Amino acid sequence: MSLEKEISTINETSALEYPTFRVPYEELNCKFRQGQKRMEMAGMAIKRFATALERRIGDAQDAIPVEKVKGAYKNLCSQVEELENALSETVGNEIELAERLQARIAYMDEQQDPSDDCPTSLIEWKNDRNRVARYSIWYLLRCGHFGTAKRMAESYKMKDIVDLDVFENCKKIEDSLRGGDTRLCLEWIELHRPKLKKMKSKLEMFVRQQDVVDLVSQKKILDALKYVRANITPQMRPDCQEELQTIMGIIGLSDYNNRFAELFSPVRWEKVGRMFVEELFLLYQLPFQSAFSLCLQCGLAAHKTPLCRRDDRSKKEIQCYVCDKDAWPIAEGLPNGHVSQSRILCSISGQLCDEKNVPFMLPSGRICGENVLAPLRVEDDLICDPETNQWVPAQQIQRLYFM
Ligand SMILES: [Zn+2]
Repeated sequence: MSLEKEISTINETSALEYPTFRVPYEELNCKFRQGQKRMEMAGMAIKRFATALERRIGDAQDAIPVEKVKGAYKNLCSQVEELENALSETVGNEIELAERLQARIAYMDEQQDPSDDCPTSLIEWKNDRNRVARYSIWYLLRCGHFGTAKRMAESYKMKDIVDLDVFENCKKIEDSLRGGDTRLCLEWIELHRPKLKKMKSKLEMFVRQQDVVDLVSQKKILDALKYVRANITPQMRPDCQEELQTIMGIIGLSDYNNRFAELFSPVRWEKVGRMFVEELFLLYQLPFQSAFSLCLQCGLAAHKTPLCRRDDRSKKEIQCYVCDKDAWPIAEGLPNGHVSQSRILCSISGQLCDEKNVPFMLPSGRICGENVLAPLRVEDDLICDPETNQWVPAQQIQRLYFM
């Protein structure tokens, strides 16, 4: 692989394609942990029931009545069945996710090194189109436009490349939190508990706090106390002392409505919803800005000059993408493009215009290098303008100088 190609791979793939592999990898991790836990529990239960069965049989020499061991044997069988199911489901899930990862690797490989005999420009165009489509789908998923994202993924055959289900689930949980329901979020926390613990996440504490607030506002003080005892484990306490104090304050103080007004307002549910999305992104190690908005900002910054200002004229009248009134709110805070050495490129061949290929300007305003202009000259003093297809006297073509 040439150096140029390697550099473009780093720029275009490694940095921005991160979510392509990170999300299924984390899902695989989660399914593996869940499967291990389920199998361990079934294994422990088998051990327990086997001991119970052994105890019942003892060292009896004579036949034992079926009734005596029936219950213990049934329990043992059900746990063996559970272990078998857990094993096949876990392996099935892991294979499915590994295949998803493999499919993505193959897809990215094909994007980098296409096997068909298309001309390079067509391949580049196809790859660019697919890349933009992928970034747009991620962006749509982040904004919660699942219907559009799904249709786009189907039409570009990218259903296996983007994680529709993960983002759909995220939106569902976020909406349920905003609606004051913590059930789905707590289920999600249970699934990802080991990873959240490693991240020292306080999400569970904040969600439980909302449950307590809910019970207290219904005047169910005793239920709130029971809820804290049952759900806030000693392991959670050292990292969340402050939050725990707040919870106990809500339960214990009669003027909780004044002291903790913020926790009782509907805005708090919105905040917890946002907090959940942030934690989910952290868990999957997804950047807070999508690849689409990063590319858009890079593109605008590259074009931005110190003279750029918001321009309210119509798009047809504006020459600059940055000054466009729709782009300006994004571009305003971005740095200006720093071009230390400007280069002039021939508008027809794309070759660099320098002392070996001096630039000229045709009356139509098109700038061409000498290399392209020479073959256009049919007669000594007439040149065919490629822009207008008209014959132009050579005297009207101006040599360009840049300072
Ligand atoms: Zn501008």
